[in-house]
Amino acid sequence: MPQEIDSVVANVPTRLYIGGTWRDAADGAEIDVFDPSTGEKLAAVASATTDDASAAADAAQDALRTWRRTAPRERANVLRRAFDLMTERREWFALLISAENGKALPDARAEVTYAAEFFRWFSEEAVRLDGSLHTAPGGDYRIIVQREPIGVAALITPWNYPAAMATRKIGPALAAGCTVVLKPASDTPLTALALAQLLAEAGVPAGVVNVLPAHRSGPVVGALLAHRAVRKVSFTGSTEVGVTLLHAAADRVLSSSMELGGNAPFIVLDDADIPQAIAGAMIAKMRNGGEACTAANRFYVHEAVADEFAWGFAAAMGALRVGPGYADGVALGPLINAAAQQKVQELVEDALHRGARVVTGGSVPGGEGYYYPPTVLDKVPADAELLRTEIFGPVAPIVRFTDVDQAIEAANDTDFGLVSYVYTRDLARGMRVAEALETGMVGLNRGVVSDPSAPFGGVKLSGLGREGGHEGMLEYTEPKYIATSW
Ligand code: NAP
Repeated sequence: MPQEIDSVVANVPTRLYIGGTWRDAADGAEIDVFDPSTGEKLAAVASATTDDASAAADAAQDALRTWRRTAPRERANVLRRAFDLMTERREWFALLISAENGKALPDARAEVTYAAEFFRWFSEEAVRLDGSLHTAPGGDYRIIVQREPIGVAALITPWNYPAAMATRKIGPALAAGCTVVLKPASDTPLTALALAQLLAEAGVPAGVVNVLPAHRSGPVVGALLAHRAVRKVSFTGSTEVGVTLLHAAADRVLSSSMELGGNAPFIVLDDADIPQAIAGAMIAKMRNGGEACTAANRFYVHEAVADEFAWGFAAAMGALRVGPGYADGVALGPLINAAAQQKVQELVEDALHRGARVVTGGSVPGGEGYYYPPTVLDKVPADAELLRTEIFGPVAPIVRFTDVDQAIEAANDTDFGLVSYVYTRDLARGMRVAEALETGMVGLNRGVVSDPSAPFGGVKLSGLGREGGHEGMLEYTEPKYIATSW
């Protein structure tokens, strides 16, 4: 492991962050954190118990009394300082993310920029929490609606964007006047702990942000959701776990925001600009090495342009340098762990067994680390498992079509509905396809849609609610209606 990484990791706090203090888990348990590029141990962090979860929720409840009444401008200033600090420390955070997640440094740097932007965007939104006033239809009283912070929020985040998935929740929660307990993924707790430290430096008062790495995620999150003070759960992760949490949230009628799995179609029409579509496909597929909920999972390409697209895409994929994420010139790091590598391998083998053709990649390299090469498969049959399952790796299956309505039907033939992509030179045609697609977001001649100022989220099994935009802050508020006569 490079010395640079060693010195970054050595400066990250490794204990639970509760009520503004760093402490061991109640039972002294720890989680080992590994470098996926080598499998080497990076650090050990405290692993919370259910008692720690209750203590963190208590701390957030105490801090809520003051934070919810703190002037919006002051809350905005704290978030703005967090943006400035994170931007100054971009390279440091990028190395840390790359070390524990494995992603290539260009991806890690892009994540830090994206993550910090949530602090800036919500610092600007904090002072724009408006309400309404109108006269009741009978004319006899007034209806005042104002937005209040919902209360203590439990935030649960995945490993694929260890910084951005946390700031996308912490930013709007703090802007709205809520306090939070964050449970990061066990594979990547270091970035969340470093964020807690940064937020304290930016002036976030003790107890407003609490961070609890926890290996026993089920019981610990269960204890958080059962705590009387917790009024909100915001989860990003798999649909399977999201559904479990929705069941738990139902018991306490908690407000729930769910950013869940995807199965994004990428449709290339016969009139598309193919070099542009390939450039878009590279971003939609390979941003974060394919380990993104927004990753294009199925490429529906018109037969008339399919050869040109497949060969051009394969050439661009094949040119990517694979290696440890933090090494110079590397564009694709390893997958997060051995299980992820095995899953991708099995999905590819299943597609090949059913008759798909390899254009590039397609087999696990030897040696250490959880690598999988950039892979393009063509003529993938409709029954291949990888068209129904989130691949979460650098594999692009191409399905050819001749009739656009059939492509739309195939694209919608999934329980997921996060994002889709369409390439065409004809904007009217593109809009028609975009409107017919059952997803919360569409990239029309764009391979990336994520933007802190836009409402990010899915329909169907991809989730509930939106993050980012103005909507992202409203998720942490409740309307209060006051009926009054004067
Ligand atoms: P995951 O297994 O669902 O885990 C997500 C988080 O939930 C982690 O903190 C995990 O903790 C925790 N968790 C796991 N089991 C739990 C349980 N029974 N009760 C409470 N918490 C539990 O997902 P992942 O593998 O980390 O992330 C990949 C998934 O996230 C993909 O499906 C991807 O599409 C989705 N994702 C969605 C978005 C979006 O915005 N829609 C963004 C990014 C990722 P441990 O790590 O300790 O198990």
